[in-house]
Amino acid sequence: ELEYAIQEIGDDDFSVLELHNGPTGVFKDFGIAFLAAAMEELLKSGGRAMTLTATSGDTGASIAHSFTARSGITSVILYPEGKVRGLNADHFVQNGGNILPIQIEGNFDDCQRLIREAFEDIPFVLRYGLTSANTLNVGRLLPQAFYYLYAFIKIKKRLRGDLYFSIPSGNFGNLIAALYAWKFGMPVNGFIAAMNSNYSFGSFFRGESFVPRQPIPTISHSMDVGNPSNYERLAAFYAEAPSVMRNMVHPEKIDDNQTLAAMEKAWKKYSLLLDPHGAVAYAAAERMRMSDLEDGHVVILSTGHPAKYADLVKDVTGIVPKMPDALGILSKESQPVAQIPARIDALEAVIAGCC
Ligand SMILES: *Cc1c(COP(=O)(O)O)cnc(C)c1O
Repeated sequence: ELEYAIQEIGDDDFSVLELHNGPTGVFKDFGIAFLAAAMEELLKSGGRAMTLTATSGDTGASIAHSFTARSGITSVILYPEGKVRGLNADHFVQNGGNILPIQIEGNFDDCQRLIREAFEDIPFVLRYGLTSANTLNVGRLLPQAFYYLYAFIKIKKRLRGDLYFSIPSGNFGNLIAALYAWKFGMPVNGFIAAMNSNYSFGSFFRGESFVPRQPIPTISHSMDVGNPSNYERLAAFYAEAPSVMRNMVHPEKIDDNQTLAAMEKAWKKYSLLLDPHGAVAYAAAERMRMSDLEDGHVVILSTGHPAKYADLVKDVTGIVPKMPDALGILSKESQPVAQIPARIDALEAVIAGCC
């Protein structure tokens, strides 16, 4: 069902790893689908599980898509105030399904805090078999390591010099997966950590300590993270071999204007449509290619489908990207099963009432 492709875009400098052809148009579909299938398989011998996830964007649609009708599993998705989109109400628990969207009266941080509190309530965790469907769960990261191996196998015949990947990063799950692929033995010269103005790990990559910040809103909003939850995993790599890591990961900071310029350039130079996240990766790759790379090839990760940003893509390139039929559901609004204050007792009461 998932189609991935490595695209040659007509020169020796770059190729594009298209990861946006999944059922909800985002690279996360792959890791989430693997996690759902693996959990269902592991539960065949008995027991049940409940995933608890917070999302402020489209990840909820991806989780609902992959977890729908998985036996033994309920998926609770917490949303902050705002619109809930991309879900099919036929699959909600009150209609006999296993998806439980809950709106929290608060912001995304309130949702995250509730999740932390729920995981600290051990009797609650044990009663429901509570687990995470965020990249906190290594079951989402391991499959992502195969993107990189796949791309390497596809292009290795053409490679003459060094190989780099440019990864548009927010919570840094994808970069961690890339580091796993390298640890598995994939020959690669380095990774570009392409960040937007949040630049959360920028100074950490250069050897300073990491200071969490408030997120800054940008046009590549799935990367607007000020306090990435994969910090400990990353820090563990650096604690082991700081100088090796500093040669391996190259941070780049791309602001919104540079992102838009990169979208335009990719279209003019390669007839390539990128969403703002992919454009951050392309801009970072171009900059690194100019400054630090004599020769070598950079694989740019396209993580989001350009049709999801049709207005922006049209403004910049004049082209209206074609919306795949399957992505139509993403604009559909739905009512959450419950709307509750940002309190743990309220959350546990809703779950106890229906699961
Ligand atoms: C989540 C997301 C990212 C960032 O990935 P991380 O693994 O969190 O660094 C980049 N692009 C898109 C389209 C995303 O949805």
